Amino acid sequence: MKISSIKKLKNLKNKVVFLRVDFNVALDKGKIKDDYRIVAGLETINFLLERGARLIVATHLGEPKGKPEVAYSVKPVALRLKKLLSKPVKFIPEVIGQKVVKAVNELASGEVLMLENLRFNSGELSNDLKFAKELVSMADIYVNDAYSVCHRNQASVSAVKKYIVSYAGLLLEKEVAAANKILKPKKPLVVIMGGAKISTKAPLISKLYSSANQILLGGALANNFFKYQKFEIGKSLFDADSLIYVKKFFKGKKISSKIILPLDVVVKTKAGVALVRKPKEIKKDDSVLDIGPDTIALYAKYIKTAQTLVWNGPMGKFEEASYKQGTLSIARLVASRAGGKAYGLVGGGETVAALNQTKMAEHVDWVSTAGGAMLTYLGGGKMPGLNKIVVK
Ligand code: ADP
Ligand code: MG
Repeated sequence: MKISSIKKLKNLKNKVVFLRVDFNVALDKGKIKDDYRIVAGLETINFLLERGARLIVATHLGEPKGKPEVAYSVKPVALRLKKLLSKPVKFIPEVIGQKVVKAVNELASGEVLMLENLRFNSGELSNDLKFAKELVSMADIYVNDAYSVCHRNQASVSAVKKYIVSYAGLLLEKEVAAANKILKPKKPLVVIMGGAKISTKAPLISKLYSSANQILLGGALANNFFKYQKFEIGKSLFDADSLIYVKKFFKGKKISSKIILPLDVVVKTKAGVALVRKPKEIKKDDSVLDIGPDTIALYAKYIKTAQTLVWNGPMGKFEEASYKQGTLSIARLVASRAGGKAYGLVGGGETVAALNQTKMAEHVDWVSTAGGAMLTYLGGGKMPGLNKIVVK
């Protein structure tokens, strides 16, 4: 594999660099709730500034409908970036156009200009060529550091590369390297999958199936397998169209020996009480909301044998205190094994939030900033954002 890494760029004095980042932070009434995405992008920004670039930084934020919406303005992000960099960051409430041209012309070597939300222009989501061309028309070099949107065919990560010499940022490079460690694993490889929406997770399970020693399932994902086995799952969350995905892992009634399902689960009963049950004993008013203690013990056994670990998807509805133990136990087990005894990769918005609750994230070799993009890359899906900059 070859990456066109920015590490090859030694001198960028007076070069205009267009940097696509993912600073899609969660906002609460205009206040940034968590700035880890901005922090994760600082290394690339500093790298480019130290080499004298005139830096244009662009991101999307939320899901505005192709036109400006105050609630999704990038301005608070620009202010936070300024604080984190301890350097001035100019902000311009435009994405393309004459005002951008003027601002870039006034930008000096080592200075930063942040554009308004890329998705304020409808050309972003539609991967519009004209928009893409105009977006990078002022730049000499394009750098993509937005790994988490690389599975999208969108102008600022996809079409722009038709018009400009393109590089991978340092964060993107690390994300790809981490994912590749899972695709070419040191064995045993143990895959842990939970969460919801089987359609987004099944490709990864299929792709890693042959190299994985075990695939440990939990969360609402496992409910689909119980349902397939005709167990009562009561009021539990499941995907109505999961059959096509699940049946691949069965030979008749027998499940593949690599797919490991929970031995016990924690249900919320009709009375709202948390109880441990065997999967075959789930009642019709129950909701399965966590994995049980026997499952945690079994999964611990497998995790402790792993040389490579990948985890995506909570083991239950960990947002509710009574149903967080399974997820937090898995988080602690993965963190204990990773960063030494095994190579560990953890990704996914909610999964990382759960890992952070344990305060053990620093023990994991790589905590991905991506959810969907990581699943797509590991699942062998199309990554338009990596075309040209990462060549297999
Ligand atoms: P990630 O964002 O880490 O990729 P997902 O988006 O797939 O994870 O799923 C996370 C969500 O799934 C969590 O908010 C969690 O509450 C929910 N979830 C997991 N297991 C269950 C379950 N058994 N019942 C209901 N919700 C669940
Ligand atoms: Mg999620």
